[in-house]
Amino acid sequence: MKIICIGRNYTKHIEELENERPDEPVVFMKPDSAVLLKNNPFIIPPFSDDIHYEVEILVKINRIGKFIDKKFAHKYYDEIGLGIDFTARDLQGKLKEKGLPWEKAKAFDGSAVIGKFCRKSELDLESIQFQLTKNGEVVQDGNSSHMLWKIDELISYISEYFTLKIGDVIFTGTPAGVGRVKPNDILVGSIGKEDFFRVKVK
Ligand code: ZN
Repeated sequence: MKIICIGRNYTKHIEELENERPDEPVVFMKPDSAVLLKNNPFIIPPFSDDIHYEVEILVKINRIGKFIDKKFAHKYYDEIGLGIDFTARDLQGKLKEKGLPWEKAKAFDGSAVIGKFCRKSELDLESIQFQLTKNGEVVQDGNSSHMLWKIDELISYISEYFTLKIGDVIFTGTPAGVGRVKPNDILVGSIGKEDFFRVKVK
């Protein structure tokens, strides 16, 4: 499986990082080795002093597809989940400055938290309310209605470049409120009132 991630998909997050608003979705990938194994803690890697959490809505692909029209994109997923795109912000800053690829800052081992999934029919996809708490305090509070590109548009766009396969996961971008983690932090992600993951930082 592969993980396809979208950057800069929420206006307020673009503003907090003082990034340019993109004309097209910003796409990057994580390898399967980036997935944090279930129930494992997230270990801060030695190459960064500024690891940020980014809570994101996930979409699990259930059919193979290429050049998927936006109006058929809904047929390619049944399940929605929640996860974290851990980012070495210090390293990403250096890479961005030099115009280099982001992989070392975004795709390292453990950088992809994939929580549980639910059927999309259980949610109002136009308005999925999701949250991240850090040590019990809400740090990110998002709603899918604020995405610049909606799920179906993202699937269509991504599939122009990459064949989507069964089991691939799309990270749809983070809302505002990203921040640094430190050892012993507990991060809990929820959609509505239901918890989708719990991660301890080490
Ligand atoms: Zn992200």
